[in-house]
Amino acid sequence: MPEGDTIFRTARALGRALAGKQVTGFRSTYPLLTRFNDDTPLAGQTVEQVESRGKWLLLHFSGGGTLATHMLMSGSWHIYRPGERWQQPRANMRIVVENSDYCAVGFRVPVAKMLKPHELARALKIPSPATDVLSEAFDAAGAVRRVLAHRDEEIGDVLLHQEVMAGVGNVFKSEICFVTGINPFCKVAALDLEKVATVVVTAQELMKANVLEDSGDAIVTYAGRKRRTTNELDPSASLWVYGRRDEPCRQCGERIRRRIQGPDARVTFWCQRCQPMPGGTDVDG
Ligand SMILES: [Zn+2]
Repeated sequence: MPEGDTIFRTARALGRALAGKQVTGFRSTYPLLTRFNDDTPLAGQTVEQVESRGKWLLLHFSGGGTLATHMLMSGSWHIYRPGERWQQPRANMRIVVENSDYCAVGFRVPVAKMLKPHELARALKIPSPATDVLSEAFDAAGAVRRVLAHRDEEIGDVLLHQEVMAGVGNVFKSEICFVTGINPFCKVAALDLEKVATVVVTAQELMKANVLEDSGDAIVTYAGRKRRTTNELDPSASLWVYGRRDEPCRQCGERIRRRIQGPDARVTFWCQRCQPMPGGTDVDG
């Protein structure tokens, strides 16, 4: 599943192609979107802003409607010049937004809805900018309070709760824990306020570093590799622990562990020596 950094970069690219420009065409295979467009034609309206909120991507139209999409595992947005050949079959097309310069195509986007302003404000699943790690409006102190409220849960699970911090996915989860020296299986109750604040700041820093203009598609947290490349054969080469089971820790040489964690059975990577459990009750992997 794409993490928040991917959606942020997609929103930025879509914004450059669509924002401030008049829509010349809109098509969708989703009846609810087509019906909305029949009632309130999007052609003739302007795309005011393209925004990412955690793993959601929002297109705000001048008529007041917002197209909210979530990629889950399968979806992607492509931007083409008019007449350019698409890189996916027509059958995968779900949404098309066109202007005179570009054609934005949402392929296999599994979740898509048109929301009026009051519906957007009430859509509980769509994070507010204050909870979005990559938003200018991110409220770090609020995120610290929300993490601390899950005191009986393991920090590795809490980092994936989108209502706590939107945008953090499974790769960043393991990386954030490593960089802060926290064992991902440690209960939040065992962490003090300062430690939790460090986790939140680190989440923000690692994710922001991955949405710089020269960021490629691969997540980079390990600075030992200077050059970012978009066609990385082994994505874990630029990470501290994720995907590096049994390989030596980049900091201490200990073998990296891997274990399934939490109610959603997500895979977690960590170093036993750099990230000890408080009290020495180690989890093995
Ligand atoms: Zn280590």
